[in-house]
Amino acid sequence: MRILVLGSGAREHAIILALLDEDARHEIIAAPGNAGIAASHTSSSRGSVTTIALDPTDPVIVADYAIDNDIELVVIGPEAPLVAGVADALRTRGIAVFGPGKAAAALEGSKTFAKRIMESAGVPTGRAALADTLDDVEQTLDEFGAPFVVKADGLAAGKGVLVTEDRDAALAHAAHYLQQGPVLVEEFLDGQEVSLFLLSDGTNVLPLSPAQDYKRLRDGDAGPNTGGMGAYSPLPWLDDQFGSEQQFVDEVIEKIALPTVRRLATEQTPFIGLLYAGLILTPRGIRVIEFNARFGDPETQVVLPRLETQLSGLLFAAATGGLGGLPRPVFRPDAAVTVVLASEGYPEAPETGRTIEGLEAAASVPGVHLAHAATAIGTASSPDDMPPLIATGGRVLNVVAVGRDFGEARRRAYEALAHVRLDGGQYRTDIAARVTE
Ligand code: AMP
Repeated sequence: MRILVLGSGAREHAIILALLDEDARHEIIAAPGNAGIAASHTSSSRGSVTTIALDPTDPVIVADYAIDNDIELVVIGPEAPLVAGVADALRTRGIAVFGPGKAAAALEGSKTFAKRIMESAGVPTGRAALADTLDDVEQTLDEFGAPFVVKADGLAAGKGVLVTEDRDAALAHAAHYLQQGPVLVEEFLDGQEVSLFLLSDGTNVLPLSPAQDYKRLRDGDAGPNTGGMGAYSPLPWLDDQFGSEQQFVDEVIEKIALPTVRRLATEQTPFIGLLYAGLILTPRGIRVIEFNARFGDPETQVVLPRLETQLSGLLFAAATGGLGGLPRPVFRPDAAVTVVLASEGYPEAPETGRTIEGLEAAASVPGVHLAHAATAIGTASSPDDMPPLIATGGRVLNVVAVGRDFGEARRRAYEALAHVRLDGGQYRTDIAARVTE
């Protein structure tokens, strides 16, 4: 298949590696991709990858490109193209696209839209109130009590949410985002977080395997929220709480995913793409903290390497209304761990332009591969030298390790990271530690 993948992060790299690894020869075009994606290959790669400089958020440019180049499937990685209406433009022109239209993507782009859908579909979530003024915010904070949860309504690149015991900090956060519009004050939900990805064709859903990510910057869940500093999959402790992973997944499908997808279909905004359920397992049951409308980053990096079923077939079936009747995707029982290497200063003000070294040695650790996020080829210091690889943003790359168990996967991930050199680079040392204790 000729597949166009939009995006430039480690999530898109993980999707592309999974497609390359399939038992089929795909021609993959990444727009815009990154240095790691451009050099992608796996030990069993069959297909090819090219990267093109194209604005993935411009609906006309993307649709023209897809038509002119006989693209058979477009996979939209990040949220920005969804919110910009790229999927709508492609669908209107008859191109199979994995990703919801602008209206359904509001499930991620607008927390108030998501809350309304959940309420009308009877989906369990935290109590929340929309506040227009600081007085309203104060009243709701006091009603719900500490810890306080304040969220910006729209997309805020992971920075819009503050969870704090400090009432003044909650008010300051609310005051900042009130300049852009109403803010959401939510009840604090206590429990383990789980990310579950569900493929949706607008009517039917198929689940992938659950994962857990680490949102905070530093070990022990200290420091600010980030886009995600690491993840692991599967979640062995689900067996204790739910009997099995399958029983947990069945409950999420029945109580959360299907009611949501059906509600969106009823509202003439069918959800075609990846429904990412961000869940908290509270003592009172499973609650949705948020929905996203695309694959999660970094969870994708640990879910897809375990997928045995062909990814392209699943994405194409979802894009073309064909998930009904398909069996659930099958996953290898391996343990997968990913650790994110971030630039100094991330998330507030990442230092960019620094060289990254040691990647070959890192990737040669058994069971390890790298998924690049913010990397580019720099300029060589002299014509005889190889141009260096440089970091171009906050989250630079992911080390992904697969093993027979989490002990092995974790050892491999950190052995690989020890080879990587990036001045001021930061990573957590406790990813998946809780499942090896
Ligand atoms: P969100 O962008 O809504 O996913 O929020 C980012 C992170 O903030 C989540 O992954 C949770 O760790 C935390 N969070 C958000 N909402 C709540 C809540 N109601 N209770 C507890 N933690 C929350």
